[in-house]
Amino acid sequence: MSETAPPGRPAPSDLDRILRDPGFCRHSTGRVAVVEWEAGSGWSAPRIEPYATLPTDPATLGLHYGQAVFEGMKAFRSADGSVSLFRAADHGRRLGLSAARLAMAEMPTELFVRACVELVAADEHWVPGGYGQSLYIRPLLLATEAEMGLRPSRSYRCVFLAYPADPCFGSDFRPLAVTAATETVRAVRGGTGEAKCAGNYAASLLTRTEAQAAGYDEALWLDGVERRWVEELSTMNVFFVWHGEDGPRLTTPPCDGTIVRGITRDSLLALARDLGLPAAEEPIAIDAVRDGIRSGALSEMFACGTAGAVVAVGRLGTEGGDLVVGDGKEGPVTERLRGALLDVQHARTPDTHGWLLPVTGAAGAVAIEGEGRQA
Ligand SMILES: *Cc1c(COP(=O)(O)O)cnc(C)c1O
Repeated sequence: MSETAPPGRPAPSDLDRILRDPGFCRHSTGRVAVVEWEAGSGWSAPRIEPYATLPTDPATLGLHYGQAVFEGMKAFRSADGSVSLFRAADHGRRLGLSAARLAMAEMPTELFVRACVELVAADEHWVPGGYGQSLYIRPLLLATEAEMGLRPSRSYRCVFLAYPADPCFGSDFRPLAVTAATETVRAVRGGTGEAKCAGNYAASLLTRTEAQAAGYDEALWLDGVERRWVEELSTMNVFFVWHGEDGPRLTTPPCDGTIVRGITRDSLLALARDLGLPAAEEPIAIDAVRDGIRSGALSEMFACGTAGAVVAVGRLGTEGGDLVVGDGKEGPVTERLRGALLDVQHARTPDTHGWLLPVTGAAGAVAIEGEGRQA
């Protein structure tokens, strides 16, 4: 790792103020990690650099043809003051899969994790300590070659940005209102829906903005063929809580290539099972959701993702008017799962799944292989 001089850092009192009320990614730590790839020479070692604008040729392939993928991940502070990354290797593997789908260079997971560890270790004092707060890390992998012909770029840059963050919906957990997208689709099987690629978000913006203008927080995406099966929100997966004979039962749409394989989604499936809550990945028709809300068989609905953690959905727009899910507030199962997730992330409960990678004391030479905590 080579380190250049840090830019103007906030005075300790300013940093305290920022960390008490960070908002969502309002303040960069002022440093980034950078990893580059060139055809012929391959991947560079991570460098920690001051935050700076990218030197961008207007003919850059990534801008014209959309070779751009990203990740969103978090580092958390635990009660003993130490800092750990949550499921860093899984985020690295997913960036690799997203890159492969867009014919981009695939960064080795080990290199991805090393860049994250070095960045967080360098800016460890920027990790806030409040429950639910974190250092949000946004790795962006972009094609950087200037070339007009359509073909995969022969150079890429991955910049890892870091920001102290509250959950992106704030800390007061107001339930979301969502409405199903009826005119547009986000993804179809065989497309890029599973990749965390920039184009998917561009494709969702029009409908999302229209939903917001109509008084909702988000569009709920349906499948692109029958326009019937619930997929996800523009940046989050969704779960449903049904009244079962023996208590609540969770379902979430399966990962069939059209939704992002959320790491929060996967964590919640595991935590639900740990808590003895049955949880299944199964197709869910929008009609069944509407009927379930009306009959009371569907008692809770929530969205999940790294940025927002777990957020209740309290209202679903339909052509006949809005339906209130349960009593419109965060329900007990949602609350329990949100607590279980945050408790693992802040190391308040044992890390039985090996999801935390300690960063404290890891500055400099650290051996990072594979996933999770090192023995
Ligand atoms: C990132 C993302 C998610 C959530 O993934 P996490 O790994 O839980 O953060 C869900 N859907 C979309 C479209 C996403 O971009």
